[in-house]
Amino acid sequence: MRLKNVPGAREAIAASDLVIKEPKELKGKWKEFWNNDKELHIEVGMGKGKFMMGMAKAHPEINYIGIEMYSSVLYRAVQKLEMEPLENLRFLLLDAKEITEVFEKGEVDRIYLNFSDPWPKDRHAKRRLPSRQFLARFDQILKEDGVIEFKTDNKDLFAFAEEEVEPAGWKILEITYDLHNDEKMVEGNIMTEYEEKFSSMGNPIYKYIIRR
Ligand code: SAM
Repeated sequence: MRLKNVPGAREAIAASDLVIKEPKELKGKWKEFWNNDKELHIEVGMGKGKFMMGMAKAHPEINYIGIEMYSSVLYRAVQKLEMEPLENLRFLLLDAKEITEVFEKGEVDRIYLNFSDPWPKDRHAKRRLPSRQFLARFDQILKEDGVIEFKTDNKDLFAFAEEEVEPAGWKILEITYDLHNDEKMVEGNIMTEYEEKFSSMGNPIYKYIIRR
């Protein structure tokens, strides 16, 4: 998702307490930042924040960080969270390529990837968030028995993601090719913005949960 330049977005983000400004200084100190012992779950490539808002509301016992690389998009999430403040949700303006500079090994309990950009050209495969290159980065921040949950309606991206799991040293714990009709996996499902759009067009949603 890339919105046209939104006037004032950068300034609003810079001025907002909901966006963490120097996240690399908090590496290894996230429990101190929250001042509590709750688990930390993150969404990488959050978009406008619908999923993170829903999760943070449904699970006050968990801390959430939504990560987005474009300020024009993050600005929309900030506006939503300002309207409905949630103590357990904060945002980062960050390219996930740098994620290991922000979190220490084991500091993240769960990672969500939702409707990640497909980057269809082969030469761009390493930019895909479920690629082995990103799985290697996630390996460096996720706790030992932590999981990654990935969902998408993009058949080719999901097939690619499935093929990346084993070579990257991960295992599939659960998988479905039709999330909304999978009684077990759909339990507690919070729809993302893209999920609402594409499932309303009749597209099935694919999902896996993986761990090392
Ligand atoms: N997760 C949301 C949803 O399901 O509605 C948004 C999906 S949108 C297709 C993907 C988002 O991931 C875009 O907003 C894009 O800017 C962001 N993104 C892609 N690569 C990223 C990266 N390397 N670091 C941070 N955000 C990224």
